Amino acid sequence: MSEVAVKAPVSEKPLVKNEHLKIAIPTLAGNIAATLADDSLACFSGDDEQFLKFHGIYQQDDRDLRKAGKLYIWMIRGRIPGGVLSAKQWIAMDDLATNRANNTLRVTTRQSIQFHGVVKDRLGPLMKEINQAMVDTLAACGDVNRNVMASPAPAITSARQQVYEDSKKVSEALLPTTKAYHAIWIDGVQLNIDDPENKDFVDPLYGRQYLPRKFKIAFVIPPVNDMDVFTNCLGFVAVIENDKLVGYNLTAGGGMGRSHGNTTTYPRLADVIGFFPREKLVDVAKAVLTVHRDFGDRTDRKRARLKYVLEEKGAAWFRAEVEQRIGSKLDETKPFKFITTSDTYGWQKGLDGRWFLTLFVESGRIKDTETRRQKTALRRVAERFGNVEFRLSANQNILLANVTDAEKEAITALLHEHGVKTEKQASLLHAAAMSCPSMPTCGLGLAESERFLPTLIDRIEAVCADVGISDQEIIIRMTGCPNGCARPYMAEIGFVGKGPGRYQVWLGGNQNGTRLNKVWKDLLKETETEAELRPLLVRFKAERLAGERFGDWVDRVYWKEQPPVAVAAN
Ligand code: SF4
Repeated sequence: MSEVAVKAPVSEKPLVKNEHLKIAIPTLAGNIAATLADDSLACFSGDDEQFLKFHGIYQQDDRDLRKAGKLYIWMIRGRIPGGVLSAKQWIAMDDLATNRANNTLRVTTRQSIQFHGVVKDRLGPLMKEINQAMVDTLAACGDVNRNVMASPAPAITSARQQVYEDSKKVSEALLPTTKAYHAIWIDGVQLNIDDPENKDFVDPLYGRQYLPRKFKIAFVIPPVNDMDVFTNCLGFVAVIENDKLVGYNLTAGGGMGRSHGNTTTYPRLADVIGFFPREKLVDVAKAVLTVHRDFGDRTDRKRARLKYVLEEKGAAWFRAEVEQRIGSKLDETKPFKFITTSDTYGWQKGLDGRWFLTLFVESGRIKDTETRRQKTALRRVAERFGNVEFRLSANQNILLANVTDAEKEAITALLHEHGVKTEKQASLLHAAAMSCPSMPTCGLGLAESERFLPTLIDRIEAVCADVGISDQEIIIRMTGCPNGCARPYMAEIGFVGKGPGRYQVWLGGNQNGTRLNKVWKDLLKETETEAELRPLLVRFKAERLAGERFGDWVDRVYWKEQPPVAVAAN
């Protein structure tokens, strides 16, 4: 990639605090190791909280216990490009969840694993052990490129392996180079931030200030859009000819996050920019990332994502900027089409003759209950079948891949012994739903999400049964706040937390992830859900075209009659 001088936009507005923090300690070391070693300190300072994110760690407190005072806990997120773990790594993750966290593994909507409820004296050991398992957490959060996603299902093309290799390559190429991560979590030492080598550190890609905000990448293989590619800052849509990966269509400028009451923030779908051959991949990734680095708004973190640069400057400007940085022209976009964002549950055979099983994980939480011991079952699979790969999906599910004919029967039996179904795993609405963690761990949660959605879906299913549309899948997603971690703005029905028991409700997303939904209710008490939804579901049943989904009916009929609710500005 050709060298491009940083062309930071000149702004009258002051930089936000996080920018000053990064400039002051560009190694991102903060005072983390010293605080970790000091048993008298219950938590990290506010500044270190920001640095910890770059290390894949969020400082949180158990919000159920707040009345009795703050109990600090930490959430740790893995960097798992493409979401692939070996059986050995799965055992290590399971051990960490059991011994260092809250005995659950949380599959995220970005193909990662989160450990929740980690107390301070277990944080250091967890971080060391996760690295020993050859999984790290560097840049899993923070103002950097985060976990790179890639389609996990092997059935449709043998080029999937190449796409996966490319996702790992991009992840490595965009990693920050600071020594602080290794020093703190592997060597257990506090980096001397006054040492000139550390004080004057400049990351070759990120500079001293890193990115203005987070940056997200997904690789996807049409016609399956299981990565929700248009919700990413940067998307690579594989172009496969004669089962050979020839290059990618580039998408840029997607993102979900917004803020209640701030109409200058909004979810946005990525623009399709153009095609490039595979050998340009890393150059293009760096070019897009550095456009964000150089043009993202560092004076307002709520508007610092790449999507606002695209919105303001336009796709033509962006394309020219990328072309200048890679030193060549992009080609015209190659045609592609998406048909679904969903996972296909159950056993399927890949083109390599190996089987893979997509298992439903309710809200991404792998745990044992009295009747369904999914966590133990997966561990037993990993222990007995060392060649099986554990692949995480962006729909919060898990795939067991690389399974032989003989192993298939044994794995099925083992799962059934633990109460884990392999057929008809969940009802239509549960199987299509997603929720973010929110309460009690996420500090930003305004309403319940993961703990509440399954019950709400039961209630909506009862209405659907009553109305006579039990055979209809409706994609329902819920988040505890407008950040949108579970991509509620793509759902056919999206619930976005506004306060305890209260949600903003969005309607009209589609199945293939190419349309944003719109605001239906600015504030709905959860107790009113059935009464408010029922008339719409009745109309849907009466008016739908053959094969038409709820979200498509809403878009075709309801939004033509009724303007979406204008969300109040602060
Ligand atoms: Fe937390 Fe909001 Fe993300 Fe939910 S959507 S996990 S509440 S930041």
